[in-house]
Amino acid sequence: MNHLADALSGHDTAQASAGTLRRWLTGPRVASLPQSLDLTVPKLSFEFFPPRTEALEQQLWACVRRLEPLAPSFVSVTYGAGGTTQERTHNTVARLVQETALTPAAHLTCVGASRGEVDDVARRYWAAGVRHIVALRGDAPAGEAGYVPHPDGYAYAADLVAGLKQVADFEISVAAYPEMHPTASSPEADLDNLKRKIDAGATRAITQYFFDTDVYLRFLDRCLAAGITVPIVPGILPVSNFKQVSKFSAMCGTAVPGWMGKLFEGLDDDSETRHMVAAAMAAEQVRLLQANGVDEFHFYTLNRADLSYAIAHILGARPKKG
Ligand SMILES: Cc1cc2nc3c(=O)[nH]c(=O)nc-3n(C[C@H](O)[C@H](O)[C@H](O)COP(=O)(O)OP(=O)(O)OC[C@H]3O[C@@H](n4cnc5c(N)ncnc54)[C@H](O)[C@@H]3O)c2cc1C
Repeated sequence: MNHLADALSGHDTAQASAGTLRRWLTGPRVASLPQSLDLTVPKLSFEFFPPRTEALEQQLWACVRRLEPLAPSFVSVTYGAGGTTQERTHNTVARLVQETALTPAAHLTCVGASRGEVDDVARRYWAAGVRHIVALRGDAPAGEAGYVPHPDGYAYAADLVAGLKQVADFEISVAAYPEMHPTASSPEADLDNLKRKIDAGATRAITQYFFDTDVYLRFLDRCLAAGITVPIVPGILPVSNFKQVSKFSAMCGTAVPGWMGKLFEGLDDDSETRHMVAAAMAAEQVRLLQANGVDEFHFYTLNRADLSYAIAHILGARPKKG
């Protein structure tokens, strides 16, 4: 008899396993999440970034073509920190208008440009057929200490929203922070700022990504109590690279709960398993949100379709034919 069989037949093991079912049956009971048959298919949107190289361009367009049949409400294209991708963002958005059935939204920031220059960019978008802007303040360019408004520019996103509404009747989305913007003086001040952006004409907020669903749901309560009634669409980041996401989260004020570290433990060099864990984790997050009544989701795709596609599928989205 080998050691394993020896151990398995031992008295201690028998006692331990005799306790197993009792432990399972006396642990906390978790009500199951509703199955998607009972739920309406949510509205989806996908965020892309403008590609810097030919290879990244191909990756972006493969991602766009894979997600297009899911018929998202809109897709958005980011604006590089410090306004560094103005041309690339414009070209990507213009191509989306010309070559796809998608409705693009262009991100636009206040950084490093006068009001006149920002208004001109907006006018170009309008002329190109773009009707939706994600209006943001932006951050200081890399290497600079903190954000300083351009002397002739829009100082904050709320000012930009008001300015854009003067340029044309854009649909405007803005950013919201369930865990507070990292430089806000208080959660109340940050919420007042969100309210100002809505009052200036924004009709949707998209949140910074978060991992603690409870924090987001409490934030919705606070928004409603502050008189905000527009959708506060959860920004979902499928975590394909835990190390990078941890680093980035520290800068943008998103808490990385301890359980996430445990979930990705030992997977630094195992991208395949990491990917599967990421899909399972994001699926749980969106299903919990959906079970709580949320029916709009914004995905930070990082120009990769697979995780976002799989999670959208779990939410009930199916490709539209033709
Ligand atoms: C969905 C989403 C998309 C994003 N896309 C991009 C992108 O494409 N390009 C990019 O560069 N960045 C992007 N960002 C990051 C964003 O630019 C940064 O988070 C930036 O620091 C804040 O932008 P905001 O629009 O939220 O700023 P604001 O709403 O203007 O707020 C910025 C800070 O200033 C405070 N504040 C506002 N008004 C005042 C005032 N009058 N006096 C004093 N304090 C004030 C606010 O409380 C907050 O702390 C995105 C963020 C999100 C959530």
